[in-house]
Formats: sequence, structure tokens, C-alpha cells
Amino acid sequence: MAATNSNGIFKLPEIKFTKLFINGEFVDSVSGRTFETRDPRNGDVIANIAEGDKEDVDLAVKAAREAFDHGKWPRMSGYERGRIMMKFADLIEANIEELAALDTLDAGKLLTMGKAVDIPAAVHMIRYYAGAADKIHGETLKLSSEFQGYTLKEPIGVVGHIVPWNFPTAMFVMKVGPALAAGCTMIVKPAEQTPLSALYYAHLAKESGIPDGVVNVVTGYGPTAGAALSSHMDVDKISFTGSTEIGRVVMEAAAKSNLKHVSLELGGKSPLIIFDDANLDMAVNLASMAIFYNKGEVCCAGSRIYVQEGIYDEFVKKAVEKAKSWVVGDPFDPNVQNGPQVDKAQFEKVLSYIEHGKREGATLLAGGKACGQKGYCIEPTIFTDVKEDMKIAQDEIFGPVMSLMKFKTIEEAIEKANTTRYGLAAGIVTNDLNVANSVSRSIRAGTVWINCYYAFDAETPFGGYKMSGFGKDQGLHALEKYLQVKSVVTPIYNSPWL
Ligand code: NAD
Repeated sequence: MAATNSNGIFKLPEIKFTKLFINGEFVDSVSGRTFETRDPRNGDVIANIAEGDKEDVDLAVKAAREAFDHGKWPRMSGYERGRIMMKFADLIEANIEELAALDTLDAGKLLTMGKAVDIPAAVHMIRYYAGAADKIHGETLKLSSEFQGYTLKEPIGVVGHIVPWNFPTAMFVMKVGPALAAGCTMIVKPAEQTPLSALYYAHLAKESGIPDGVVNVVTGYGPTAGAALSSHMDVDKISFTGSTEIGRVVMEAAAKSNLKHVSLELGGKSPLIIFDDANLDMAVNLASMAIFYNKGEVCCAGSRIYVQEGIYDEFVKKAVEKAKSWVVGDPFDPNVQNGPQVDKAQFEKVLSYIEHGKREGATLLAGGKACGQKGYCIEPTIFTDVKEDMKIAQDEIFGPVMSLMKFKTIEEAIEKANTTRYGLAAGIVTNDLNVANSVSRSIRAGTVWINCYYAFDAETPFGGYKMSGFGKDQGLHALEKYLQVKSVVTPIYNSPWL
């Protein structure tokens, strides 16, 4: 299979895995049904994927339960789990080309980014948690009188991971990595828009020696497969990433079933605050990257950009030039900076927000429409004269739409930045350390980037404040999500009841 564009011919990846992965085997769904995954460059069908539903989730949970209650994975030493995970990371590294191409084909992500950033970061993530697997310790407790105690950190059990489509690889490894290190067994439900790489990761997990039943992947739709997982009586924890709206549904399902543990990584409307003393060119580059990167399909995109009045006019001019020079097109082309939105629904949603912005009285200075002859590409778009109460300033658009706003004082910037129900991330651009310190402490968000944006690392905990959710991914905090603490108490000498 090959695709052409202005730059020549790109070899598309072979689709090797299209079935559910349960108990170490690729299997059809019980119903035999499939769904189509489509290429966002043209809307064409890439492959038919097994459509998992309640019966398939039951089978996957049964396999994960068996692997947890009786299997080797939770019982082997952390060192041994780490060694197998290192092999998993090596196999991911050896398959970078294939994995990056699958995410490009399925999600419209840049191939260059996949090869240089997403897949290497996935390798790093798995190695980071492999290294943590033998460093999970409880505490010894000094108790009153004749007793001594200690705590054990035990794997939480069978975990359901429900993830979105915008970073199929990052979502897979940031959920599976810490859960594997903790000794859990799991079922991953990838987004229906982007199932391809998750199935490939499942295959590599098996190749690396992770025992059958430990990692299962059930592809399918949210209201069926996702709902079956979040309401399952034999799942001990749900780790969900997705929209705030569905996060609420997942939490309700967990509450109404077995009160399973829940962690939620949800939506955002992150502010980026640029002060007068900033280097203007650097600030424009950073702001453009903060909102246009990955076509704006980033939970922590800097979608509300506040610029101090002294540099506002010059900033707007340069930001518009930058947006107009942004190259949008085929994500396999190394010269392209943005590919298409993930699917038709997302494409239409973004365009309708742009229409809203125009109707509400914001001024459109760049972009604002679809581009290309086929597929779901949208021009990088800039609105000025945006007011805090406009829909484009409040809702998560999840597209390449920059809203620019002006401010005078630090206090005003902080107040405006916090005027949102979300609290996922924020950015600050200034050379004044006092300003950076005071603003970063005053913003109610889980991550603050100073003079940078999207500076991600496996080591840095990531997660929201307010309606952006709770419970961190990444870092050692994420490991804690998949562990529970048991207290063990014994008499120091003889039992007092002797
Ligand atoms: P979504 O909430 O529609 O779907 C996310 C996942 O939930 C998918 O796998 C979907 O199939 C599943 N789902 C849908 N309905 C369900 C139900 N009733 N029960 C159980 N599962 C169900 O989100 P999306 O459109 O796929 O992704 C975009 C959203 O994800 C944005 O809001 C974005 O901000 C958020 N996101 C957050 C982070 C973060 O780390 N905070 C990271 C990436 C994306």
C-alpha cells in the first residue's frame, strides 16, 4: 500500500493486528462485529477492527483476574518485572518506524514527531517504570508499647484503562507502564478512532515475556466496551483519560457498581501568560507551538493566550505571520507542520467553534477554514478581541484555534487565567523571577511551564486541578495510583493474650 503527495511516495504501514487481544491471543469479538478505523487524510477506511462489547470485556476481565489471583506477574520480584519491562521497552524501540507510522495513519499525527518524540518518549516511560518496579517499599512503624508494625504496598488488582485518541502511544504507555511495575493486570480500551497502535503494543508486550492475561486490549466503542469496563464488578480500578463529560459518567458507573478506585485525567483550557519583558520572537514561537502543535488536539494546549498590553500589538502581528506560514497537509510529509484533525466529527466541531467565535464578535485574523482537497485539515486560526465569557474562551475546542487577550497587571492576568472550570496546565513567559514565582503559585493548575511549554518527561507528575480531574499520570505519583497500602501489626515478643 502506498500514498502519494507533493513530496513523493510514502510507504504506509502494514496493518497486522485488528482483533481483540485477550489472554495472550488475538481473537474475534464474541458478536463477530467489527468497526472501521479511518484515515483522517482522506476519510478512507484503513481496516476493520474487532468490536468488543460487554461479553468481550467479561472475557478480558476474567483473564486479567486469573492472572492477578493466580499468575506469576504480581508474585514475581520487582526486579524480575523490571527486567521484562526493559525488554518490552527495547522492542518498542526496535519498532519505532512501524509504531510511528501507525499513529500517523490512524490519528493524523506528524510522522516526524512520532519518530523523534512520541515513540522515544514511550520507550523512556517504560524504562522509567521498569526501574521503579524494584523500589516499591512500605514503611516500618514505631508503635506504642509491645507492638511493631509495617506497611506493604500491594498492587491494586485488575485495572481498566480507558484512553482517548489524541496521543495513542503516550496514553498506552503512561497507563500501562506504572500499572505493570506495580504488579497489576489490566484491560486497555483504546479510543475507537485510534485502535491500531494499542494492538501492536499488546503484541510487543507478549513478545517481551509479559505473561498472558496481564495486558489485554479490548477495542470498541465507549458506551458499550468502555461502559462495561467502568461498571464491571471485578475491576478494581479505572484509570480514565478523556473528556470531563465522560469522566463524570465513568465515575458514576464506578460508584454504582463496586466502588472501584477511579482516577481521571480530563479536559483543559490552559492559559499562557506573556509579560511585557518577554523576548517577543521566542514568545510568539512558544505560543504558536502551545496551541497549534498536534493540530491543537492536546489536553493541555495553551488555548487562552494573555499578552501584556506593552507588547500586545507587535505580538499579534508576528503571531498572525507565523500562523499564516504554518504548513498544513499530509502528516507523512516531513515538511508539514500539522496534519488533519482526527476525524470528521472533530473537524466539524472545530469549524463550528470558529463560526461561534465570529458570531460572538471576536475578530478573525488568520485561518478560520478547512484546507486541502480531502480529509480533515484546518488552517491555524487566530482570534483577537476575545472576551472571557465567549464560548471560544471557555470551552475546550481541541483544535488549532488561538484566542488572544490583552491584560495590564499581574493581578489581572492571574484572575483571568483562573477564570475557567478547568485546571490542567498553564504557561508563563517572563524574564522576571519574582513574577514567574508568584504567578506560578497563584495559578490553579496541575502543571505550570515557565519559559517553555509541553516540556514533558516520564519523571514529571501530570494531572489536573478542578474539573480537569484528579490522580496523576507520570512520575512516581502514578505508581501510587496502582498500589494500595496494607498495615501489618504484630507483638514484638509474646502475644499479650498468652
Ligand atoms: P472521550 O471522553 O469522548 O473518550 C475517551 C475514552 O472514553 C474513549 O476511549 C471512549 O471510547 C471512552 N468512552 C466514551 N464514552 C464512554 C462511556 N460512556 N463509558 C466509558 N468510556 C467511554 O474523549 P476523546 O474525545 O476521546 O478525547 C478528547 C478528550 O480527552 C479531551 O477532553 C481532552 O482534553 C482529554 N484528554 C485529557 C488528557 C489529560 O491528560 N488530562 C490527555 C489527553 C486527552
